[in-house]
Amino acid sequence: MPLKTLFLNPPSFENFDGGAGSRWPATREIESYWYPVWLAYPAGMLEGARLLDAPPHHVSGAETIEIAKEYEFLVLFTSTPGFPGDILLSRAIKQANPKIKIAFVGPHVSVLPEKSLRDCPEIDFICRKEFDYAIVDYAKGKPLADIPGVSFLKDGTVVHNPDAPQIQDLDALPHVTEVYKRDLDVTKYNVPFLLNPYVSLYTTRGCPAQCTFCLWPQTLSGHPWRKRSSDDVAAEMAKAKQLWPEVKEFFFDDDTFNIQKARTIELCTKLKSSAMNLATSRFLKISRKARPSNAPASSLKTATSSAWSSTATSSWACRARRTRPSTIPSRSPRNSTSKPFRFRWRMPIPAPSCTTMR
Ligand code: SF4
Repeated sequence: MPLKTLFLNPPSFENFDGGAGSRWPATREIESYWYPVWLAYPAGMLEGARLLDAPPHHVSGAETIEIAKEYEFLVLFTSTPGFPGDILLSRAIKQANPKIKIAFVGPHVSVLPEKSLRDCPEIDFICRKEFDYAIVDYAKGKPLADIPGVSFLKDGTVVHNPDAPQIQDLDALPHVTEVYKRDLDVTKYNVPFLLNPYVSLYTTRGCPAQCTFCLWPQTLSGHPWRKRSSDDVAAEMAKAKQLWPEVKEFFFDDDTFNIQKARTIELCTKLKSSAMNLATSRFLKISRKARPSNAPASSLKTATSSAWSSTATSSWACRARRTRPSTIPSRSPRNSTSKPFRFRWRMPIPAPSCTTMR
């Protein structure tokens, strides 16, 4: 049996919507949450594991400490604003359960591994960047020294193992929706510009662009663009619709969804031709009118075809706006000669623009 593992998006502080998987970690005006999708992959690969998303389920720090007493291994997805609080929480968890091993993951510790280890002696190790298999390997007993992509302190000296190769076979990863169904309550998740309840998942990882305001590809998912097969995505979507008949919107939260025209059309065609009865959202239809210069009109047309009409929706426009890498002439969007692409939001609630830090 692997170590009994708790995957934790830790309790947040008042009015802050951050942590695992949050696209726009920021102070919020209304309560809104993203799914802790990155934690869901390894949580789906370890028997006996649990994914605890504390903020949307209103699990307090004290309750988290109680829950962690039952586990041998804690994987905590930290953030820069949440890090000081996560140190205190880890300390309290170790005091209550001294044998527990603690790993921190996420952009903050990927960028600052040594500082994070020294700031928080309760951390046993850090996984840099994509952490799926590193966490699984450790939980199954592999020595830290043999696990790529981890950093740890040994006799006061930091050890950075070589980077792990980026995962190429995304189809080999579990379907996060099955982990959501097991451990999360989808009715707790709300984003103002989506129909609710919604469910988000990834169909690709990575983005070749290097926008200086953008967090995820620069720190975690990387620049090589990798895709799941359209069959795998279609199979997950079909299952997800059965799992949650009440879900009104499925959201593809990819860094850059439609960078490859042929794949976009292939996937849209499969989703349309299956018996899922999905409709594209108003979000995507907006993007057709204001698409980025290199977003193929034909792929968006396929996605928004009128053949998709029904109760549930599938929203891809969010990532359609991010298909500008070849049009960005410099690392700084401010130096760009092409205008940044922005959505024409039609929602009554003010929404973040592409220049908002993710
Ligand atoms: S194109 Fe989008 S996902 Fe890629 S680096 Fe820029 S903002 Fe981030």
